[in-house]
Amino acid sequence: SKVLVTGANGYLATWVVRTLLEKGYSVRGTVRSEVKATHLKQIFAKYGDKFETVVVDDITKEGAFDEAVKGVDAIEHTASPFHFSAEEPEEIIAPAVNGTIGVLKSALAISSVRRIVVTSSCAAVQSFLPEPKRFSEVDWNEQAIEEVKKKGKDSSQIDKYFASKTLAEKAAWDFYEANKAKVSWDLVVLNPPYVFGPLIHDVSSPSSLGASAGDWYNAVVRPDMGGKSLEVLATDGGGWIDVRDIALAHALSLIKEEAGGERVVVSAGEWVYQDFIDTANALSPSPIPSHTDLPKGDPGAGKKLPPKIAFDTAKASKIFGPELKYRSMEETTRDTLEDFERRGW
Ligand code: NDP
Repeated sequence: SKVLVTGANGYLATWVVRTLLEKGYSVRGTVRSEVKATHLKQIFAKYGDKFETVVVDDITKEGAFDEAVKGVDAIEHTASPFHFSAEEPEEIIAPAVNGTIGVLKSALAISSVRRIVVTSSCAAVQSFLPEPKRFSEVDWNEQAIEEVKKKGKDSSQIDKYFASKTLAEKAAWDFYEANKAKVSWDLVVLNPPYVFGPLIHDVSSPSSLGASAGDWYNAVVRPDMGGKSLEVLATDGGGWIDVRDIALAHALSLIKEEAGGERVVVSAGEWVYQDFIDTANALSPSPIPSHTDLPKGDPGAGKKLPPKIAFDTAKASKIFGPELKYRSMEETTRDTLEDFERRGW
């Protein structure tokens, strides 16, 4: 069967495409311009006509996905702005929400579509509270929406992005509820936390890495640890998942019947930057001969306080079962550093 993957050239989506192809699916990937398909065509050449691309230049345009959805059996909607540079909140909220609604709308009348998976985020689940909390699927990040409503362009970049993800997910569920009697598909929403791990998408330098992989590179590899203070390194973090595991969760979301209608939080565990720094320095033998000078931060400082933000992943275990094994911090760190080493970063 054929799966449409939106934003196919992204960090996560490229792994989603690869995982689906390896499982035997045909994949149609959307990109914003023809040039963004070049690298994808190269890395997926061995799958022949099982992989194709289609240009959707503006996902917010009415009917943007009408052509792209034709003849597909499922959709994985990953395209959404992920950056911390919006001036007005709407700059990031509008494409997140309208892109999501646009895909669902275009799929309304496509009777071949059986399932749509929307990549939401733990950004739509967690909020910043004075006390530590373990969040789950029942939690919604109303806080970011309130902040953005109250402060507009003066709200933090985190709140702007978090609000975009929360509002997009809410819009997806509302749209599904309003239309579920007349569609041939059901909806699955995946809520991953920070995504780390090696890259297979087209990135020319560390400075053009996406937000999560870029943060990881800056803290773990750069001698100045991204300019973060020891205190920030020891306290900033949340949940995390390896990019290959969240890609697998996207494939399993199509395979597991019982995922239908579910919002699912997936997370390998908790982290603060210092934990990854400690893990990188403890790897033996070192996977990165040229980086014997990895920054050390304040070793062990990440373990001094209980994590402020954690996630309950019982539902994911129930739905995906033992097939979704989370990679360890060691494995992700080793593979990521090896990848950077190969690139000469
Ligand atoms: P990337 O930035 O690598 O990929 C984002 C994709 O979305 C790209 O294909 C990008 O296209 C496309 N996109 C962004 N903005 C627009 C827009 N305005 N119109 C059309 N397409 C757009 O991000 P990730 O791979 O990290 O993220 C993928 C998804 O996973 C997103 O939905 C993100 O919110 C979610 N997520 C990511 C996490 C992480 O830590 N990385 C954590 C939790 C959720 P282009 O290349 O042309 O800009």
